[in-house]
Amino acid sequence: MKLLDFDKNYPTEDSCIMRFKEMRIKSGVVCPHCGHTEHLWFPTSMHFECKNCHHRQSLRSGTIMHSSKLPFMYWFKAIHLMTSTKKTFSALEIQRQLGHKRYQPIWEMCHKIRSIMGQRDSEYTLSGMIELDEGFFSTERDDDHNIPLKRGRGSQKKSKVLVMIESQKVENPKNPEKPKSVNHLKMIVIPDLKAKTINSIAQMSIEQDAIIDTDASTSYTDFENYFAKHNASVISPQEISKALPWVHIAISNAKTLLSDMYHGVKREFLQSYLDEFCYKLNRIRIPLDPFDRLLVVTAKYKSDFNHIPYRQDKIDNCVNCG
Ligand SMILES: [Zn+2]
Repeated sequence: MKLLDFDKNYPTEDSCIMRFKEMRIKSGVVCPHCGHTEHLWFPTSMHFECKNCHHRQSLRSGTIMHSSKLPFMYWFKAIHLMTSTKKTFSALEIQRQLGHKRYQPIWEMCHKIRSIMGQRDSEYTLSGMIELDEGFFSTERDDDHNIPLKRGRGSQKKSKVLVMIESQKVENPKNPEKPKSVNHLKMIVIPDLKAKTINSIAQMSIEQDAIIDTDASTSYTDFENYFAKHNASVISPQEISKALPWVHIAISNAKTLLSDMYHGVKREFLQSYLDEFCYKLNRIRIPLDPFDRLLVVTAKYKSDFNHIPYRQDKIDNCVNCG
């Protein structure tokens, strides 16, 4: 949505409240006590009352704004900023745009928005032809700094990410350098490269009738038991961009996005940033307005971000504003 359209559609707090109420009714208000779906609306106190058991729930209850005290307008503006560009906004930048005094609630709001993006995407599984590989993302070390730093992929400053992407071969491609077309992708932070870990995540993320292309790593040896076909090829580093093109383009783009925006990403928040990256990329070809689409999700999902405690040292430092 363009900025002028946003300002026209949502000029006041009341206009945001009305739109959010509309979204909640559209997604179906369910009584948490008796499961009844018919409710009365009380505009002054902004709550729904179950027609069956008279249980009351607030407009924010069970949504992304559950227990939030921030104005609806803040949420709408943050969602607008985060969906208006392929890039991302740091919490500090959004705090500045909103002119809010405290950083913590804005930081939490941004992570809650990313959290529902991840929840929404986790409902889908990948199918067809899949490229799968691991990416190694630079993150700040969170172990004992007295322990010597390991080099390479096993370094404490590298986080492992399993990357899976639907990649279909194209008949007579216009660009011979790009013989495959890309569709949906998933990026999931993994604790290790053990076959057991990778098997479990791949099974949760990919349909059984999929055909998986990977390199010849021993982490993937069980795939032939779980999927229709597994093509494991010995791939030299020079050939990797041809053999698994999209998975490596996705890894490279995600790394660029993160390094352009943040000085250092904390390991525990890497998944959150990758969720935002994947959510946007997975919808890039859908003609619906990204703001409206995400607004539907915010009314339907309660964020699972609450359990992560905020600490001052967890600030995601924007490269532009500190
Ligand atoms: Zn009820």
